Amino acid sequence: EAYISAIEAANDKINAYVTVTPDKAREMAKASDERIAAGKAGALEGIPLGIKDLFATRDVHTQACSHILDGFQPKYESTVTGNLWDDGAVMLGKLNMDEFAMGSSNETSHYGNVINPWRETGSNRQIVPGGSSGGSAAAVAAHLCAGATATDTGGSIRQPAAFTGTVGIKPTYGRCSRWGIVAFASSLDQAGPIARDVRDAAILLKSMASTDAKDTTSVDLPVPDYEAAIGQSLKGLRIGIPKEYRVDGMPEEIEALWQKGIAWLKDAGAEIVDISLPHTKYALPAYYIVAPAEASSNLARYDGVRYGLRVDGKDIVDMYEKTRAEGFGKEVKRRIMIGTYVLSAGYYDAYYLRAQKVRTLIKRDFEQVFDAGVDAILTPATPSSAFGIADETLAADPVAMYLNDIFTVTVNMAGLPGLSVPAGLDRKGLPLGLQLIGKPFEEETLFRTAHAIE
Ligand code: GLN
Repeated sequence: EAYISAIEAANDKINAYVTVTPDKAREMAKASDERIAAGKAGALEGIPLGIKDLFATRDVHTQACSHILDGFQPKYESTVTGNLWDDGAVMLGKLNMDEFAMGSSNETSHYGNVINPWRETGSNRQIVPGGSSGGSAAAVAAHLCAGATATDTGGSIRQPAAFTGTVGIKPTYGRCSRWGIVAFASSLDQAGPIARDVRDAAILLKSMASTDAKDTTSVDLPVPDYEAAIGQSLKGLRIGIPKEYRVDGMPEEIEALWQKGIAWLKDAGAEIVDISLPHTKYALPAYYIVAPAEASSNLARYDGVRYGLRVDGKDIVDMYEKTRAEGFGKEVKRRIMIGTYVLSAGYYDAYYLRAQKVRTLIKRDFEQVFDAGVDAILTPATPSSAFGIADETLAADPVAMYLNDIFTVTVNMAGLPGLSVPAGLDRKGLPLGLQLIGKPFEEETLFRTAHAIE
């Protein structure tokens, strides 16, 4: 009831929820009470969560915040949300996001901007919560849920977490099932939680993760007790500091934050080593070829026949064209055009194939560092703190917006786990995050290390 009233009071100002499901929440909470009374409480019994609109939720609005999915209510539940309900969690509603998870500011949503609950000191200027999981991050930061699901294809969990002072983890590719999550770029997409602190993120990820026959890329590995890693000493851990993340034009305070993080980890007993990831500079351009290529293929299914919106035309081709022209927003169309171009005959070798080769090199950079005895890598999560809504420079130049993902996309390209933890405020009083990158399926190391920073 407290969360439902908080949403009623604040959602108009923040726009974090696109659908609120109070009746469902009360019904689920009642069932939780009964299980608790019967001594059968699950790991998340009665915990109220918000769900990113990218996750299919049975009979509940699931539109990836796109006009083209208008009215779509799946008859099935995503594996990740199903796992949460099986553990007793309660659904408060569906959270705003960039359309089809394409964006870094939550400004491409068909349902309008999400407004970050944070403000610069002495200013009432509205700022973005980051994206694409902007609704998830803002809802957690504003106490409109106890935790939220999110997804990360190129930073969409970690960047909004950094912009809102929350914790977000993108687990290793394959750790959570992608079944029932609207696909953006299938070889990069992963689900993960956004939470108020490292412990909550560990508890949520444990419930979300599973092996799933319905997603052949999900791995058949037991899910460890992530919470048990929290509080363990950092003695014996080697943390790598990659010199290539010291990018041109990075504000001094981001560098200062990074140095502070290094000092904290040293104090906590970790050994700090300088490392090199030489192909880092190619990650962003390669990501913006691979992700749109996969998106253009995944989004071919929205044709006005199977899901959501249909705009009538004089024949079937005209209907397809009108539906897609009206149903997709500008950023989504841009991605489809880039993707179709880089996959087309004559350009495939020059762009797509080359980007895939770069991806292998990026992965090898990490493998070499981990083989040399590094346990985790520390970097800034973002090159700046949150920016203003409708920032003119960013609106005029989509590539400037893409640059926001400079520290996060390498992790998706290599399939590794990455966690963003709040590490302080900038001089404007806005939150900043540090990112920890780990070895495949060693999320425990990230929780253990992040707890020494938070
Ligand atoms: N900002 C990135 C993009 O727009 C990442 C999105 C994501 O992780 N879903 O592609």
